[in-house]
Amino acid sequence: VPPAEKFEYQAEVNRLMDLIVHSLYSNKEVFLRELVSNASDALDKLRYMSVTEPDLLKDGPELHIRIETDKDNGIIMITDSGIGMTRQELVDSLGTIASSGTAKFLKTLKESQEASVDSNLIGQFGVGFYSAFLVSDKVAVSTKSPKSEKQYVWESEAESNSYTIREETDPEKLIPRGTHLTLYLKRDDKGFAHPERIQKLVKNYSQFVSFPIYTWQEKGFTKEVEVDEDPAEAKTEGDGETKKETNKKTKTVVEKYWDWELTNETQPIWLRNPREVSTEEYNEFYKKTFNEYLNPLASSHFTTEGEVEFRSILYVPATKKEDITDRKTKNIRLYVKRVFISDDFDGELFPRYLSFVKGVVDSNDLPLNVSREILQESRIVRIMRKRLVRKAFDMILGISCSENRDEYEAFWENYGKFLKLGCMEDKENHKRIAPLLRFFSSQSNEELISLDEYVESMKPEQKAIYYIAGDSLSSAKNAPFLEKLNEKGYEGPSCQQHGGLQRGVN
Ligand code: ADP
Ligand code: MG
Repeated sequence: VPPAEKFEYQAEVNRLMDLIVHSLYSNKEVFLRELVSNASDALDKLRYMSVTEPDLLKDGPELHIRIETDKDNGIIMITDSGIGMTRQELVDSLGTIASSGTAKFLKTLKESQEASVDSNLIGQFGVGFYSAFLVSDKVAVSTKSPKSEKQYVWESEAESNSYTIREETDPEKLIPRGTHLTLYLKRDDKGFAHPERIQKLVKNYSQFVSFPIYTWQEKGFTKEVEVDEDPAEAKTEGDGETKKETNKKTKTVVEKYWDWELTNETQPIWLRNPREVSTEEYNEFYKKTFNEYLNPLASSHFTTEGEVEFRSILYVPATKKEDITDRKTKNIRLYVKRVFISDDFDGELFPRYLSFVKGVVDSNDLPLNVSREILQESRIVRIMRKRLVRKAFDMILGISCSENRDEYEAFWENYGKFLKLGCMEDKENHKRIAPLLRFFSSQSNEELISLDEYVESMKPEQKAIYYIAGDSLSSAKNAPFLEKLNEKGYEGPSCQQHGGLQRGVN
């Protein structure tokens, strides 16, 4: 067996670890969420690949996550039967910054540099694998990919700036497939290795993981056992065999043993009855699934039946999306019969101007090995797309009907330009988009009005809606064209920045 090989971390990794440890110290328990979500991702990958390569499952069909603790020694072990890693994948994944989640984390940290970093907020980010070092002195990752003959162990100590990789040789540690993580907890963090504490954390952080998570728990059951009466007492009462018989007593004792206990609920939230899911749960699901830290502005959970059957939960985020042309958004997670397929098909399921909408879509009618080509040609997808788009409009309309006007203003501020693009690109949906549009008005200062509101305050003889496009609100307000309108007392909505001059509707 070749000796362990030593590697230095990419410089950025050292920096990231440093940041994680220093900004998340009060949020240490996020390590569990991160490691469980990696296990879940690895299982998703395996399940998806096994659709076309069923052989991948030959070393064990069961897809699960198991967490075992050793509280005396302060050790936590997390095992998944997922896709595992080859030696090269270990180097690529656990020695560099590969993930988008961690990149996002770094970016936010940079942006909030002057302001003191709110660790609560950062605790909501996907900070990834390195968060294991929040609580560990040493981490070992023993992993077996179905693509590799051998199982490898990655090991690193906190603040060592390096890691080693060696072949797993201990026959007791060989696993058929997947990843076995061992965390050697820091002295002050050994409390995490209490079985009840881990169980509580799993319940709290992993309620949306769709694979079973088992934790190793001590259990007890009571049973009645026959016991002899106190021999001292028996003696005083006389002699011999007959006494023994009559002095037998029953006593209740607790028998202890250890066993795996299913700790999470594996039914995906979108399969549940919308009436039984709370807003809180929708928001939590959103934040965990999309690595967001703000609650969404709105959500919509629905099932369609008939011609095409699918379930979906859609969300309007509260965070601004700048790039209107960016189609690679990974905003829609597509599942087929609960199997995660891809988050790379947004463009096929939503038009470009709705690319800010996030959500999950689960269909029973698509093939599991669905590809972009299949999606593009599929009649089923065309129908799904139509329904999804309508639901998205309903959801946005819902925000606009909210008592609280600020909510829609916030929406418009973030996504107004997307809907204007929709007006230009999607003739079929004009009637649905028009009520969602907002404009500045010549008769108010900052407040935005809808076309309906405009029509309501039209003069009796007024026949048209007037509007003007401008670079800014003030340049539109100073346009000579407006003077005539103002003389007549007509209102002129002005469409800041992205507006085009359009003839109005009556
Ligand atoms: P992210 O999950 O956002 O990609 P992480 O830092 O959490 O970032 O993980 C980095 C990479 O390490 C993952 O993308 C994956 O390739 C690999 N990895 C981590 N944990 C596991 C695991 N349990 N099984 C297989 N691969 C894993
Ligand atoms: Mg991760």
